[in-house]
Amino acid sequence: MDIAQERRLVTEIPGPKSRRLLERRQAALPRGVFYTHPIFVEAAAGAIVRDVDGNSLIDLGAGLAVLNTGNAAPAVVEAIREQLDRFTHTCIHVTMSEPYLELAERLNALVPGDVPRKTMFTNSGAEAVENAVKIARYSTKRPAVVVFDHAFHGRTLLAMTMTAKVMPYKQGFLSSAPDVYRLPFAYPYRCPTGGATPEECAASCAAYAIGEMEKHIGPDNIACLVVEPIQGEGGFVVPAPGFLPRLAEYCRDRGILFVADEVQTGMGRTGRWFGIEHEAVVPDLVTTAKSLAGGLPLGGVTGRADVMESVHVGGIGGTFGGNPLACAAALAVLDTIERDGLLARAERIGVLMRDRLLDMAERFPLIGEVRGRGAMVAMELVEDRETKAPAKAATTRLLEEACRQGVILLKAGTYDNVVRLLPPLTIDEGLLSDGLDVLEKALATVEEESEA
Ligand SMILES: *Cc1c(COP(=O)(O)O)cnc(C)c1O
Repeated sequence: MDIAQERRLVTEIPGPKSRRLLERRQAALPRGVFYTHPIFVEAAAGAIVRDVDGNSLIDLGAGLAVLNTGNAAPAVVEAIREQLDRFTHTCIHVTMSEPYLELAERLNALVPGDVPRKTMFTNSGAEAVENAVKIARYSTKRPAVVVFDHAFHGRTLLAMTMTAKVMPYKQGFLSSAPDVYRLPFAYPYRCPTGGATPEECAASCAAYAIGEMEKHIGPDNIACLVVEPIQGEGGFVVPAPGFLPRLAEYCRDRGILFVADEVQTGMGRTGRWFGIEHEAVVPDLVTTAKSLAGGLPLGGVTGRADVMESVHVGGIGGTFGGNPLACAAALAVLDTIERDGLLARAERIGVLMRDRLLDMAERFPLIGEVRGRGAMVAMELVEDRETKAPAKAATTRLLEEACRQGVILLKAGTYDNVVRLLPPLTIDEGLLSDGLDVLEKALATVEEESEA
């Protein structure tokens, strides 16, 4: 659909039609299925979401990191349509489809490292993480899984256990999966081991984590270490330089598999195909989902061929995993990233966003830190730059205020005080700039309110 790439408000937000649907929603859906913005969508294209009241909003959240190639990217829609005319489903375990095969071949070639790779597909990111752990356990014959503070890996039982934050992800669900161990993450702004510089933070967190694995878990018990190259839901935490390479080296020495959870950092978001490429680490296994299929549900596990091959025939899979529509969409996503130079675009818009946020940080003391890589950029809001007390209420207000002015933003972080920018990599620079102007005005409003 052709939708003008401009912000345009014709009612207050939410408008009357969204309000009516919201009432029906409250009656029909459980509140546990949360929402960030009180808006129902009628159509979307590129970086614009049009709501049912006719308002055009700028999408700086990309459907939660799913639309790196933009809303309803024409090539993706076309690929889905073509596949739709042929067939909509084969279960890979019954009769096979070429899109599954071709996409596996493409991902095998794209994942970094000069080793033979194989790929299996799933329905979601959580399911990809579950399968990566199952395969790692099978291949190493070891039970333990090491994860980190602030991690997010999904909401199924094992993935939920691997996720760090108790509220809202784990509170009340009582039981968790066994053999999951959590270690500190080198978060330079709030270094858990007290490192004064990023380098110190990396060295002391790595030393602490390795000490725990040596003394308390036992390297011979550890199947894999699962880590996000940049923590997504955890607040766009870029690990201190040297932390991941040191851990990867330790894993290699001890036969522990290094799993990069690229569900949020993958598919060009950070200016490379995968976030781990910034660390010069060759992962054993990589999980993907979110932007992989441009909005269709698809997850993947791509790993060292010998590791992937260890599982017996029939040990992994699922009914819908690698659905042909989703795989056709994903092939078009990969083509679009290549053809439209979206890795370079991610760098370019990343610089634009970082420059603007750094400029705002000079004027708004609310901004404690600006960080990110490529087009994965965030600011952490604090009540006081000395104490770094998280400004949670101000973050919520900022999102509300921006939404009322037609900009969709997302928050993140263990302390709910990070505003993250995840625009489609295809976003027009003028539109992005308009979105950032709105963000800046909203910051001024919130800053005034908190002074009052
Ligand atoms: C979103 C996310 C997941 C879970 O993906 P779902 O498709 O929601 O199950 C796992 N890992 C990371 C890093 C994520 O950002």
